[in-house]
Amino acid sequence: MLIGDLILERLRRTYRLELGEFIAPRLRKRSLFEFIIGVMLSQNTSDKNAIRAYNRLVEIYGSPITPEKILSKPLEVLMDAIRPAGLYRVRASNIYELAKLFKNRDFIDELIRRLRESSIDEARRILQSLPGVGIKTADVVLSQYFGRPVFPIDTHIRRITRRLGYVKSGKYMDISRWWMENTSRENYVELHLLLITHGRRICRARNPRCDICPLRDMCSYGSGRGDV
Ligand code: SF4
Repeated sequence: MLIGDLILERLRRTYRLELGEFIAPRLRKRSLFEFIIGVMLSQNTSDKNAIRAYNRLVEIYGSPITPEKILSKPLEVLMDAIRPAGLYRVRASNIYELAKLFKNRDFIDELIRRLRESSIDEARRILQSLPGVGIKTADVVLSQYFGRPVFPIDTHIRRITRRLGYVKSGKYMDISRWWMENTSRENYVELHLLLITHGRRICRARNPRCDICPLRDMCSYGSGRGDV
């Protein structure tokens, strides 16, 4: 059995996956514009804060959130709405710029077509050329909105991977590649979400609960072999 699948099996036995705790699965059925905004709001902050900021957007602009609605109000209104997510000035400018692009229906159709049909590398490049979209946001969009085989790495997964001791490199692509090579493709999304859950509940940044961890015997740090 692949080691990622084994980890998944143990995490499945430990946690009940609460999709409502994650902003991306909550928005999977919405427009691509709404999905990207939601994932952008979760960059460098918790999903809890991102969900609060997103809900404020809905209160102020109404659902669905459209590019036209975003552009119909001053930038300051947008800044104030997304304040709970932090970095609100730069995020608001990026959302505003995104709205200017997404108000063009032809642009959206062409973007969706290219994100479905291009190679993964090209699709990442296309997404990263959009305002405020970094590699992790691009991978979450590809994985959870388009169902493409990528493995996004967030701060929790980065920390857990380092502690497990399987990947020496701290580079995003090296960590992502390792999980992809060691996990069955159909398990990518579930494992991604369960690893984040594990990072929130047990393998916390401070005081990880190695004493109750289901991965302890597989973990360099938890079994005393690592010093991370
Ligand atoms: S044993 Fe400790 S460090 Fe290792 S994965 Fe579990 S909680 Fe994290």
